Amino acid sequence: MRLETELKKSLKSLLQAMLVTLTLLGAAGALAAEKISSVRVWNAPQHTRVVFDLTGPVSHHLFTLDNPDRVVIDIPQAEKTKALDLVDFKGGPLVNVRSAPQANGDLRVVLDLERAVNPKSFLLAPKDQYGHRLVIDLEKTGATRVPPTQRTASRPKSFSDMGSGRDIVVAVDAGHGGEDPGAIGPSGTREKDVVLQIARRIYHVLKAEQGIKPVLIRTGDYFIPLAERREKARREFNADLFVSVHADAFDNRRARGASVFALSRSGATSTLARVLAERENQSDAIGGVNIDHNDEMVTSVIYDLAMEGSMEHSIKVGSMVLREMGQVTHLHKKHLEQAGFAVLKSPDIPSILVETGFISNPGEERNLRSQSHQVKLSRAIGQGIISYFDQHPPPGTYFALRKQQQRAQQHRIARGETLSEIAQRYRVDLTALMQYNRLDNTDLIRVGQVLRIPNS
Ligand SMILES: [Zn+2]
Repeated sequence: MRLETELKKSLKSLLQAMLVTLTLLGAAGALAAEKISSVRVWNAPQHTRVVFDLTGPVSHHLFTLDNPDRVVIDIPQAEKTKALDLVDFKGGPLVNVRSAPQANGDLRVVLDLERAVNPKSFLLAPKDQYGHRLVIDLEKTGATRVPPTQRTASRPKSFSDMGSGRDIVVAVDAGHGGEDPGAIGPSGTREKDVVLQIARRIYHVLKAEQGIKPVLIRTGDYFIPLAERREKARREFNADLFVSVHADAFDNRRARGASVFALSRSGATSTLARVLAERENQSDAIGGVNIDHNDEMVTSVIYDLAMEGSMEHSIKVGSMVLREMGQVTHLHKKHLEQAGFAVLKSPDIPSILVETGFISNPGEERNLRSQSHQVKLSRAIGQGIISYFDQHPPPGTYFALRKQQQRAQQHRIARGETLSEIAQRYRVDLTALMQYNRLDNTDLIRVGQVLRIPNS
């Protein structure tokens, strides 16, 4: 009996002790200051992104001060850490980061700037390698982002020479960038780095071709949301073709080979295509997109019709690029694949996504880093694009006019025509016309015969 009471007593005190501990833990949880564990800075042409990694979600208040220009961020119940003293500014508008605890318990972070900026901030929930993040975008003043739905009706193109037709604009998009490293190879190679190198090489291959004007969507190590990549191609460059360059990973390290994808609006052509599209579409969540500029998929009859037309061309150009790539690298599949890649959803610009290889495969990772392999790949991709436009030149381009001229260089003989009349019409020398067509007698021609006209 006594023992029982003793036992009850000690049990009771044990429970009490546990309760106190729990209450203390709870209180500590509520009061715990969040820490900024690291800070990253990414400089893009139009903005600088500053990312604070946090140990938990925070609220924040942001305001600007001038003379000198500063952005101030107050974070309640946050703790100062060394990370704030070790920021690598990389030569943007940001010149210094200072921080100090305030009397009210807030942590004040001050970004000292070289010039005034238009700051925007938002929080990102944990995703993949990242925990909670506070993102501050310091946009260049005067730089405006046009929402994806706005678009001018006319599409002024760049004319290199009105007389010889305009240039075909090819937008080369290096995938990922900045906060979003893309896939990471077994030796640590980051997709965002190798695809930027390859994209730059493709740019140079295309630049060497008369009648083609390549443009790079991403020019450095910074993130661009998927919808903005498509919009840049359309709004800023009026591109005739959009090519997104990637090098992705698969769980199976033995998976290898290059592939080319076009958009599918009705499911993927294979499991791998579906998995890759799902991974690629995560880019916004990893790279960090403010919910304000979320991608809205336009749905209308006009959109559908335009999409049908551009998808047909996407498939054609993609197949030609794949064929060329097959000459220099192993192909994952011999035919073009389709899946729901968000970056390819331009209604009126043929768009393809090139997976240059599997960075998850140790052999291919090595190849993707190698200069000679990058050269081979970019030449093949460039050649595929050039061959496609040779066959399907957009009207009014240098390629289209050249094709017309090539066609005009032939003449089918009609009833009653003589060789000298034909020579006169094309302003070529009769003897030259005969020699060119291996004719040694003016009488030896017949109706329907096709003559090749030499350049006069
Ligand atoms: Zn990728």
